[in-house]
Amino acid sequence: MFLRRFYGYTSFRPMQLDVITSVMSGRDTIVLMPTGGGKSITFQIPALMSEGCAIVVSPLISLMADQVAALRANGIPAATINSTMPEAENRATLDALYQGKVKLLYISPERLLVEMGRWSRDVKISFIAIDEAHCISRWGHDFRPDYTRLGALKQQWPSIPIMALTATADKLTREDIARQLSLSSPALFVSSFDRPNLSLNVMPNPGLKGRINVISRLIEAHPYDSGIVYTLTRKSAESINAELIKKGFSSAVYHAGLSADSRMEAQRRFREGKLQVICATVAFGMGIDKSNIRWIVHNNMPPNIESYYQEIGRAGRDGLPAETIMFHSVSDIITIEKFISESGQEEINREKLNRMKEYVESPVCRRRVLLSYFNEHAPCDCGNCDVCLNPPAKINALIPVKKALSAIIRSGSSVGANMLVDVLRGSVKADIISRGLHRIKTYGAGRDLSYGYWQSIILQMIQTGIVEIAYDNGNRLTVTPYGRSLLDSNEPLMLADPEMLYESRAAKKFVREKPSLLDKLKQLRSELAVKSGWPPEYVVSDPALETIAKTMPRTLDQFAAIEGINDIRAVMFWRPFVKQIYKELSLPDSQLKAHKSIHDTLFLLNRQYSVADIARIRSIKQTTVYNHIAELIYDNLFTDFDRVISDKQVEEFMTLRITYPHDAYDMFDKRYGDGLHNVALAVINTHS
Ligand code: ADP
Ligand code: ZN
Repeated sequence: MFLRRFYGYTSFRPMQLDVITSVMSGRDTIVLMPTGGGKSITFQIPALMSEGCAIVVSPLISLMADQVAALRANGIPAATINSTMPEAENRATLDALYQGKVKLLYISPERLLVEMGRWSRDVKISFIAIDEAHCISRWGHDFRPDYTRLGALKQQWPSIPIMALTATADKLTREDIARQLSLSSPALFVSSFDRPNLSLNVMPNPGLKGRINVISRLIEAHPYDSGIVYTLTRKSAESINAELIKKGFSSAVYHAGLSADSRMEAQRRFREGKLQVICATVAFGMGIDKSNIRWIVHNNMPPNIESYYQEIGRAGRDGLPAETIMFHSVSDIITIEKFISESGQEEINREKLNRMKEYVESPVCRRRVLLSYFNEHAPCDCGNCDVCLNPPAKINALIPVKKALSAIIRSGSSVGANMLVDVLRGSVKADIISRGLHRIKTYGAGRDLSYGYWQSIILQMIQTGIVEIAYDNGNRLTVTPYGRSLLDSNEPLMLADPEMLYESRAAKKFVREKPSLLDKLKQLRSELAVKSGWPPEYVVSDPALETIAKTMPRTLDQFAAIEGINDIRAVMFWRPFVKQIYKELSLPDSQLKAHKSIHDTLFLLNRQYSVADIARIRSIKQTTVYNHIAELIYDNLFTDFDRVISDKQVEEFMTLRITYPHDAYDMFDKRYGDGLHNVALAVINTHS
């Protein structure tokens, strides 16, 4: 009932109901679900069903205001207290909390620890939900010292259930969470980390121009949607952004080097659906809650699988297909190695990098590799990754590999990957000449092959252990014993064909037809978003929008029956969408015009909303609602009116009319609500 009324969904996803039941039974509960798995509902619904207010602890202050806005838009009494809000507003929220008017309070950990001392008596707390709970653990990838102090919660309120939610799966972190929060035999729910709607694609970096081409094609395939390009450095975020703008796309940058204002501005435009692309360092994403991101590009190889999975997980949270592409190169590995050697946790981080490299090189279904990393087993190949769809063609690369090996050895192992390519291709760069590298025998021996081709061969040589990078010696390449053994070998050496790698599925040309109904509906949604001040997917989610395009609802009832559209949204937005559908079908809209404002009121009355709720939802005066009700009673459309006015009130009104013929209406309205006398009149005239 809550699911339908507040969210417009007809069924729970796997595990959601189990989690809700556990929390409602008062048990401490740990929930592990991937990003987009649907964690929010598992604490929001118990909050609505319980007496008192649920506290939601989250480290993402920038997100809180958004989440609260989304909840309020769904008619859920939520609020937030945090340092970015004006203090006066925080105090008003506290007042509302004391009066029991808040069902969900979002708060940062440090603020909760400050406030909790004062609350204990005045506030009834139903339970505490700790979102992003992995932040409590030093084992996790996002440790936050403030979180460790949340252990105090159980001491102060031993009987209040605690719920810990996270998208990070590993066992160490999980146990750490339970221990640090002093949870008492918590119920544990682990849902599958599989996100089958995300396509997984990995390809060697084809150079700036090539990358821009791939990104452009993604934008052209999703012109009314948005995507993210993640880069390792601010500089590359800037340069890709500049290229995309040059091509006429709406793009912006986001990184820590910008002022807080311009970051907020970029984030706002992205959230509102006004950007096709945002080029960002990984700093971007923690602070966004957008369910309809349709693609993610990694300009560089991420340092570990956890971050990679979390970042691609930001796409397609609404469950619709989303594409992900990762570019990787030798210099990525070098950069990451540098970070690792400065990280103080070299061993763990290097192991994590190795797992990442394995994923990138994988000759088998990538989803299988990913899931096995999270200790899950995929029963079969996914059919939605580049390896499944386009198994890499192999070539015998013995000759180019021997040329490269020889060049490395003849240079006295003094070159890095880029310079090696320059030598092989016979570049006349000053650096090459001054070092005398143009005199070695293999100089120019690989002129016939492109720069990207050589990059890919050398990358594969590193990945397969033919050469190594000397990180402690200027990232020069050295030949391994295995590499040396190849020098006199005549066995074929099979590597992935670099030509084919660039032709991977991700780079295929997308063909665009003329705007479909869905495109027009998206356009319309953007306009409604601007008017309502909400991000587009709060107006109507992408899956719901697709259903509208498919089922073409022509009445309010049909519109409200769509999965993902709740009553409030239905009443607010059905008319413009249905109008567009009439236009699409070239139908005269007389039927639409016959549906008057009073019928919207009737719709809400039939769903048991109170007069005050209806006035608020429809932004009309209470008097107007009473007028509608009176009219509906006259038309015999609303017979259930004792919910609005009791028999006793009707009798009282009749008596007043006799005793004070001039002032009866006013007196009655003053007692019971502006405009109620109209309802009384309608009842008397039709039912006595
Ligand atoms: P998480 O917090 O786990 O990353 P969310 O709670 O934000 O995920 O949910 C992701 C998306 O799935 C949201 O768009 C949400 O509205 C949708 N969703 C959640 N539960 C359901 C459900 N039972 N049916 C349909 N959609 C759902
Ligand atoms: Zn696959």
